[in-house]
Amino acid sequence: MSYNVAIDGPAGAGKSTIAKAVAKKMNLIYVDTGAMYRAMALFMIREQVDENDAAAISGKCQEADITIRYENGEQVVYLNGENVNAFLRTEEVGNMASVTSAQPAVRRKLVELQQVLAAKSDCIMDGRDIGTCVLPNAQVKIYLTASSEVRAKRRYDELTAKGESCDLAQIKADIEDRDHRDMTRETSPLKQAEDAILVDSSDLTVEEVIEKIMGICERARR
Ligand code: C5P
Repeated sequence: MSYNVAIDGPAGAGKSTIAKAVAKKMNLIYVDTGAMYRAMALFMIREQVDENDAAAISGKCQEADITIRYENGEQVVYLNGENVNAFLRTEEVGNMASVTSAQPAVRRKLVELQQVLAAKSDCIMDGRDIGTCVLPNAQVKIYLTASSEVRAKRRYDELTAKGESCDLAQIKADIEDRDHRDMTRETSPLKQAEDAILVDSSDLTVEEVIEKIMGICERARR
């Protein structure tokens, strides 16, 4: 049986930074499920599917073939045979992903892919429903969160460091909208699994969070 660590939490809580670092230290594969939902959203944007048209999203998603490969230790997402990693991290794609991921047909398709990956490799997987739905038997479940002010400020710093101009209040509003959609959708809403350990990173450095989560994983391995 493979060893699986599930990390769930809201947008901008630091899941991917932490999961990548823990994966390296523990020699696990890092599976970024948000990137799969983002690839599906990119497909919908390119196909000009109306985000309010649930039937169109459910129908169209059958035409998107999403696969994952690991190249030089990095997860690469292929959409109908094209490496789309470079297009996934925009606000537009993130916001569309939060809309299209609410559709059960989209989730069925991607959850199956995630479960196959986790069954064949020791991995740390991050997302919104990993501990509750995708890997209910994961050996470790973490719910990583931070206040929306802190999460917005981190995102703002990240974008300004890249030279992009942005508005902190707008980023915070987008994050709160996304949280609301992710937490209130009918299918697999974001919530802390009953057996998940809560880690609030609002007042912690990245190193402190990594240390905390490594400690939890090591205790679970004994
Ligand atoms: O984590 P990331 O911001 O890349 O995820 C983008 C969106 O994909 C989330 O806002 C959420 O709506 C959706 N998602 C999801 N379930 C997951 C991972 C991401 O619904 N396991």
